[in-house]
Amino acid sequence: MGDNVIPLADLRYLAPVPVVPTDAAAPSGLLADLRGRPLRDLRISVTDRCNFRCSYCMPKEVFDRDYQFLPQSSLLSFEEITRAARLFAAHGVQKLRLTGGEPLLRKHLERLIEMLAALRTPDGVPLDLTLTTNGSLLTRKAQALANAGLQRITVSLDALDDAIFRRMNDVDFPVADVLAGIDAALAAGLRSVKVNMVVKRGTNEQEVLPMARHFRDRYGPAVTLRFIEFMDVGATNGWRMDEVLPSAELQRRIHEVFALAPLQAAQPGETAERWRYQDGRGEIGLISSVTQPFCGDCNRARLSTEGKLYLCLFASRGHDLRALLRGQGPDGHAWTDAEIAAALGLIWAQRDDRYSELRSAGTLPAGERRVEMHYIGG
Ligand code: SAM
Ligand code: SF4
Ligand code: SF4
Repeated sequence: MGDNVIPLADLRYLAPVPVVPTDAAAPSGLLADLRGRPLRDLRISVTDRCNFRCSYCMPKEVFDRDYQFLPQSSLLSFEEITRAARLFAAHGVQKLRLTGGEPLLRKHLERLIEMLAALRTPDGVPLDLTLTTNGSLLTRKAQALANAGLQRITVSLDALDDAIFRRMNDVDFPVADVLAGIDAALAAGLRSVKVNMVVKRGTNEQEVLPMARHFRDRYGPAVTLRFIEFMDVGATNGWRMDEVLPSAELQRRIHEVFALAPLQAAQPGETAERWRYQDGRGEIGLISSVTQPFCGDCNRARLSTEGKLYLCLFASRGHDLRALLRGQGPDGHAWTDAEIAAALGLIWAQRDDRYSELRSAGTLPAGERRVEMHYIGG
């Protein structure tokens, strides 16, 4: 590791084994945390590895050749992930998002998708299954993912200009291949395709209008472009407030060229504020985690690659769910589904996280180092 590297490994292990309550009721799907927020959305990181080195996520100087990614034995198996997802569904989770790292680097991912696509909510409804990818392997994999039961996909793309994009992914990856991946996703029949663009002031803000123009003119309502404020996730991306382009300003810039009108949120807890083009050419989303925090109805949990459960994107500590999935109770029996579900219920019931709100209010407690995004997933 280079001299400027802050070791991360210790951080990855700050996760107590969850308490298994002895007297918990069966999951009712009506779980609420200390702020009355239900549990609806589970993001699952299937690998901590990535073939890109976006500076806002896995800067090259830190995630270099010597960086130690998790060993294969630490990763949750597909069976363990599916079991966990089933227990989360019993508690009310309706939506699963596979992420990473770069999820398409995980071998045989379509097998996991098949297994997750077979899960049902307590009412017998299939879970809403989606995936976020950098798109680099999508031309090869889109059809297999769709055949396995993937319904939706989000592709990250930060610029149309090839030089800017190559600089941002920092591995010289060309825009054209990601655009081809988006076309492949549509051709494979995925019913919703979104594109995520992280906007950094001074880096790719000049790409906002070309991106908006490209996606509305070429695809109309078939592709929704979402702009994400550069966030202070993790501890290595050198985040500075003056590099955040507030969504309100971005909305004004687009509106001057393509008239926009606000849309209602489709579901409570939705991260993106939705705007439609007044000429009917589809919609955009604005994800304003820095300037307009949405902790009030945050219903998301995150499962790391090695099975640690995080209740907030900005958490410092997780809960070692893998220890329950692989471990034994005091009398030597493997923990049952009912016991693990009870432990999950207790963890969520005690949740009080609202990092972004506290950041906005300037009342963040001085704290431990936060986990990295490639590890718990975006
Ligand atoms: N590798 C996949 C990808 O890039 O789509 C999935 C994982 S990535 C961590 C998930 C999302 O988080 C991506 O859309 C990425 O742009 C976004 N992201 C990563 N770091 C971010 C940051 N500092 N601020 C805002 N968004 C970020
Ligand atoms: Fe990789 Fe995605 Fe992070 Fe970029 S944002 S480094 S593609 S995990
Ligand atoms: Fe949810 Fe944490 Fe983000 Fe707030 S800061 S919206 S609690 S993930």
